[in-house]
Amino acid sequence: MLLPTYDDVTAAAQRLQGQAHRTPVLRSSTADSLLGAQLFFKCENYQRMGAFKFRGAFNALSKFSEAQRRAGVLAFSSGNHAQAIALSARILGMPAAILMPHDAPQAKVDATRGYGAEVIIFDRYKEDREALARGLADKRGMTLIPPYDHPDVLAGQGTAAKELFDEVGGLDALFVPLGGGGLLSGSALAARALSPGCKVYGVEPEAGNDGQQSFRAGRIIDIATPRTIADGAQTQHLGEYTFALIRANVDDVLTATDAQLVEAMRFFAERMKMLVEPTGCLGFAAARHAGLPLAGKRVGVVISGGNVDLRRFAELAAA
Ligand SMILES: *Cc1c(COP(=O)(O)O)cnc(C)c1O
Repeated sequence: MLLPTYDDVTAAAQRLQGQAHRTPVLRSSTADSLLGAQLFFKCENYQRMGAFKFRGAFNALSKFSEAQRRAGVLAFSSGNHAQAIALSARILGMPAAILMPHDAPQAKVDATRGYGAEVIIFDRYKEDREALARGLADKRGMTLIPPYDHPDVLAGQGTAAKELFDEVGGLDALFVPLGGGGLLSGSALAARALSPGCKVYGVEPEAGNDGQQSFRAGRIIDIATPRTIADGAQTQHLGEYTFALIRANVDDVLTATDAQLVEAMRFFAERMKMLVEPTGCLGFAAARHAGLPLAGKRVGVVISGGNVDLRRFAELAAA
């Protein structure tokens, strides 16, 4: 297995030039005083389709051969990867079919269809989505692009952290939401190259800490689909590529509770006037509550996405 390197992240950044937004890095003096640190929020909730996943999807699809483009792309996703693949396929002029779980947020299903992709619904608690996807890809000759365990996908995801370091310089710590590990492994490649002393932390929902268990055990641990409001991090296991890169380049894997995610959602809305989805709040929740010594430090927080139904957001915020 040939692992991607930082060179793959810079190559992805070139492919994304003029296609992905260079998202803003926002500051908040209230957040700074809460933590006694300098916080730099990389706001991928303002990325195209509302999450960093556009980066990995577009990078992967832009490397397709002519034959692959003609047959199109197939993906399985709880939402943001689906929208990312659908939008990238539309931009690049290829067909896309997306397998989505029955309980995916309606806004994400609608947006995926809105980008012109065919949506196929399955039951995430009963069916094996990876087997389903492979069967469909074979039948239709489409290329399967997984949501995280793919060199081009994770290299693309790493371009968000690259932009953060390019803009603000070195950091002491970087907090990154963790599902299957594409965002974290790509971010860690950028951190190691651009800010070698920076501690890199992945943050998972407490109910689904397979990544933390895997990091500590030194092998990939599988769990049942976790029940958490962080629907972008309901993964059952890390990937082969992402686990190898996380082991090599990440300092620790932390967790945040659903209550801490709601608190962070409210903070972003009230104080920073931003709509952030629960999964996008993982990094800030852990920076605030994991008990790491951050006083006086320069701390990066990746806000990974902002796709949440307004009704759902209101329910969570009011609870
Ligand atoms: C997919 C996703 C994640 C997790 O990313 P991985 O690459 O699977 O670790 C985090 N936040 C949001 C908003 C996502 O869509």
